[in-house]
Amino acid sequence: MITAYIGLGANLDQPLAQVEGAARQLAALTDCQLLALSPRYASAPMGPQDQPDYVNAVAAVATTLSPLALLDALQAIEQAHGRQRLVRWGARTLDLDLLLYGDQLINEPRLTVPHPGLLERAFVLVPLLDVAPTLVLADGRPLATIVANHHHQALTRLSG
Ligand code: ATP
Ligand code: MG
Ligand code: MG
Repeated sequence: MITAYIGLGANLDQPLAQVEGAARQLAALTDCQLLALSPRYASAPMGPQDQPDYVNAVAAVATTLSPLALLDALQAIEQAHGRQRLVRWGARTLDLDLLLYGDQLINEPRLTVPHPGLLERAFVLVPLLDVAPTLVLADGRPLATIVANHHHQALTRLSG
C-alpha cells in the first residue's frame, strides 16, 4: 500500500457537489481506500480570470494501483464528470491531480510527481496540510514549514 494525495478542483456545475461526488468515487475505486478528505476551500482562479471561483480539496488515499493506473482512474472520474479541456487552466467541472505518490519522483510524458504546481498553490498546500499535518517531502522538508513560509493567496474555508 502506498499513500497518495490527490488535489480536487471544480468551478462549474455545482462545484462543491462535483468535489464531494469525486471523493465518493475515489472511495469506491477498486484497490484504493479513501483515508481522509480535507475541508473544502474556495479560491480565486489561476490563469484566465473570466471564470468562477474554484472549490478545492485534497484527498488522501491508500492504494495498490501503480501511479499510471491511478492517473487513468482519476482521468476516468474527470470524464464521468463531463470534464472538457478547452483552455489551459480554463473553467472545468472537475480536475483531479496526483500530488504525491508516496515518496516517489516520477517524470513520464503523462505524469510528473510531485505535481509541478504543488509548492506554489495555497489551494493545494493548505488542504494537504489538513490531511497530512506531519508529512515530510522526499527532499526532507516538512510540509508544515513550507506552508508556514508560503505567501498565501486568499483561501476561504467552506466546511469541515
Ligand atoms: P495543472 O496540472 O497545472 O494543475 P490542469 O490540472 O488544468 O493543470 P490537466 O488538463 O488536468 O491540467 O492535465 C493535463 C495533463 O497533465 C494530463 O493529461 C496528464 O497526463 C498530465 N499530468 C502530468 N502530471 C500529472 C499529475 N501529477 N496529475 C495529473 N495529471 C498530470
Ligand atoms: Mg490542476
Ligand atoms: Mg489536472
